[in-house]
Amino acid sequence: MTRTDDIPLSRRDFVRAASLAATAVSTGLGLPAAQAQTAPSPAGPPLVGFQAEVPYIIEYGIDRFLDDIQARASVNTLFLFSSPFGPDAQGNFVTAHPQYYSDVGMKAQGLGPQSLNLPDAMAKITAATRRRGMKIYSWMIEDNRPPLKIRGMDRLYEIDLHGRRVGPHPGGPCLNNPYFRNLIAGAVEDSIRSYDVDGLQRGSERQGPLSNALGAWHHGSTSDPGRTSCFCDYCTTKARARGIDIVRVKQGFMALETYVRAGRAGQRPRDGYYVEFWRLLLRHPELLTWQTFWSDSMREMQREFYAQAKAIRPGLPVGFHIWHNTAFNPIFRAEQDYQPYTAYADFLKPVVYDNPAAERMTSYVYSVSQNIYGDLSRQQLLDFEYSVMNFKEDTYDQIINEPRATYEADLRSLGMNDTPKGRFGRFSADYVYRETKRAVDAVAGSKTTICAGVGIDVVVKNSTPESVRGAVEAVFRAGATGLVLSTSHAAMRPENLSAVGSTLRELKLA
Ligand SMILES: [Zn+2]
Repeated sequence: MTRTDDIPLSRRDFVRAASLAATAVSTGLGLPAAQAQTAPSPAGPPLVGFQAEVPYIIEYGIDRFLDDIQARASVNTLFLFSSPFGPDAQGNFVTAHPQYYSDVGMKAQGLGPQSLNLPDAMAKITAATRRRGMKIYSWMIEDNRPPLKIRGMDRLYEIDLHGRRVGPHPGGPCLNNPYFRNLIAGAVEDSIRSYDVDGLQRGSERQGPLSNALGAWHHGSTSDPGRTSCFCDYCTTKARARGIDIVRVKQGFMALETYVRAGRAGQRPRDGYYVEFWRLLLRHPELLTWQTFWSDSMREMQREFYAQAKAIRPGLPVGFHIWHNTAFNPIFRAEQDYQPYTAYADFLKPVVYDNPAAERMTSYVYSVSQNIYGDLSRQQLLDFEYSVMNFKEDTYDQIINEPRATYEADLRSLGMNDTPKGRFGRFSADYVYRETKRAVDAVAGSKTTICAGVGIDVVVKNSTPESVRGAVEAVFRAGATGLVLSTSHAAMRPENLSAVGSTLRELKLA
């Protein structure tokens, strides 16, 4: 069970406060009151989480850090990125508890003199949080960041269309690779048995091979369609057992690679980008088969993660972080149907970062206008996105706030997943409300709760106290039971973090 009794706010007060806030804010935004009044009764006071990394907290000073986030934002739960294993200077796999990592393709060794002593660091952080009545969730994400430089770790990674081992995002460890599955199982067991955690959150910021080949995510326009994955032996063996013709799958992806490369070179297909894309899908339905195979493998692994954690400690809350791309790529949103998660998630943390969302959306628009939607203008495509994804936000030019040529040249010259520099606009609190509400509605009637990931000065420093106030209010008005402040304490301007606390107090949630 989670401990909810150390925050003096009754459930009745919370529901009343949320309802009052709903009425007040819905009036201001012109939303129908009935729509805003449907917030479900949460099981206790709101979870106010904060995402942080163990080395950062140690360096900043544990008490100084906790003082700051408690005073400014009434944080009651740390979401700690704390990988229980890592590389040493020689590239060995080191961990304080080698016994949990027996068949991971790498030889697990105990901590060396140079290693981060995670048990020691965690013990200090845990003692300080316990004194304050705070909880700790282990935040487990191993992709969308450079691969760990551990000898032998490459054999856990995916294989691309041309048989090469993939590097970092959008590739990553293969979901069907038994060493990787064992590594995750070991990390789950290690995290629960060795560290005094109150919950687990797993995150994966990846998607299937069709979307990856198209560059269909924010800042994906320089992705290489020939490096899409996975085509390893584990995947192809599993696929063959399911009757999937892997030769035809590869033929489809070869044709797609040609199409994407031509689009990036500005060569419009004879019948247009959209018609040609459909021709590819009709001739190579295996493109969709392989995309779904990948995303089903992800679901399988998530179910396994949940089952493993629950087998060790049944009462431990286990949940999943949902990548921001669910706001941009409709294919990814379709795959990330929240309803099936209710069978194996106690909570979901959809990313609803308003501050980088606008520029991420324009970068997505730029990327897919090199292929599927190349027949549309940037603004037509953005309007299409707003209709399909149910947002009402600013125009392409308002968001980028600089000449298109400058912005798009930056997108072409930057590395994949890099954000250009600029004074970019934000998405509104209405976006935060809609994304949170969509998630709340999807899990209604289940045990699964929604803790929205609220961004403050994420990559682009364009948050303001007013925008933070709007986002926090929107999250609770939409019926979330909590929020997780993201992504970096170092990047957040103090006045923006303070706006969280003042808004929570205003809503009588802190
Ligand atoms: Zn594979």
